[in-house]
Amino acid sequence: MLLCVPKAHGRSLFMNNIRQNIKALIPDKLEERILGLGLKKYRATQVFEWIYGHHAESFDEMSNIAKAERLLLAERFYISQLRTLNTECSADGTRKFLFELEDKHTIESVLIPEDNRSTLCISSQVGCAQACRFCLTGSTGFHRNLEAFEIADQVLTVGKILAAEPASSSGIGSSCEQFRHITNIVLMGMGEPLANFDNVLSALMIITADKGPAFSPRRVTLSTDGLVPEIEKLGGSGMKVNLAVSLNATTDEVRDRIMPVNRRYPIKELLAACRRFPLDDRRRITFEYVMLRGVNDSEANALRLAKLLRGIQCKVNLIPFNPFPGSEFKRPDDVVVQRFKKILADHHYTALVRESRGRDISAACGQLRERLTPGSASSTIS
Ligand code: SAH
Repeated sequence: MLLCVPKAHGRSLFMNNIRQNIKALIPDKLEERILGLGLKKYRATQVFEWIYGHHAESFDEMSNIAKAERLLLAERFYISQLRTLNTECSADGTRKFLFELEDKHTIESVLIPEDNRSTLCISSQVGCAQACRFCLTGSTGFHRNLEAFEIADQVLTVGKILAAEPASSSGIGSSCEQFRHITNIVLMGMGEPLANFDNVLSALMIITADKGPAFSPRRVTLSTDGLVPEIEKLGGSGMKVNLAVSLNATTDEVRDRIMPVNRRYPIKELLAACRRFPLDDRRRITFEYVMLRGVNDSEANALRLAKLLRGIQCKVNLIPFNPFPGSEFKRPDDVVVQRFKKILADHHYTALVRESRGRDISAACGQLRERLTPGSASSTIS
């Protein structure tokens, strides 16, 4: 039986009878609880390493911890797992995973193979409160923040699925057999990561921990719609992940209309925060620019963008709008996208056109979730 024990701020900490999910204590409270049980401090590090470094699902597997201590841990704690409800594979090799959380909400992660990389796009919230007009998640509202372990577990679970597949056949289609592990991570799935700052930062600590999945922060990118105070906070946090900013417009008038966040933090303030963001040598901010036909795709927009970004170490990802049922926008023609790209290139910017991947499995923009669990809040993966 699952009991939900309310926390002070109204969210709940999931408990299984009297046992507590040990992952909910990671990273801050694990040591304290381990010490409270009379165990040595280093046991906390060992438990962390078993769970996030070796994918352990039970205390029984933790062979360097004394048996009596393992039994004590198993009496007090359990180790939650994301439940994989569905995985689908696209003709282009993109794989989509639908996970169920303990409270039955569902989230998506998408694995995108590309040249010599295999990038996992993960979610940070169930739904999203930012209400960007071109985004399916935005149109269906916000449910809750993901806990740090729910964010990190997307990486753990997909990693585990990939590692368990036989080398010759994944069983789900040949285009998906290329990669046995994740090389890069992007927080570009469902939700606004900086609106769930503390949990996202904790998840990043888990994902980059030497004794955990050990991703280099340079291989992790956080994408935000432009929450200026949190961009500053991230810059000061010492967590040196890459920053991507969804700019999507070159005037406040248009950005106000398509991204309500702009009414709080207009373009000038946002770009000032980007200019202040600490960047190591040769690191660049990525500006994402969703191209909407007749809204932000003109030559004048491209020229204005080139001017706005002057002096920022950056590159630009142009993302032709990915339509969904009922959406009010259209995708520009390819020649318009190429013209926009050329103007940026002529002004010495690196600009790439990023197609939404996995259209045949609805990998873009939360359509899988909507299709398999209709009526639930949708999610966005582009
Ligand atoms: N909230 C974060 C991350 C989620 S959205 C952010 O705003 O950056 C990830 C990316 O997908 C953003 O750049 C967003 O602008 C883009 N996006 C959302 N809906 C899209 C759509 N229908 N077509 C193309 N790109 C879309």
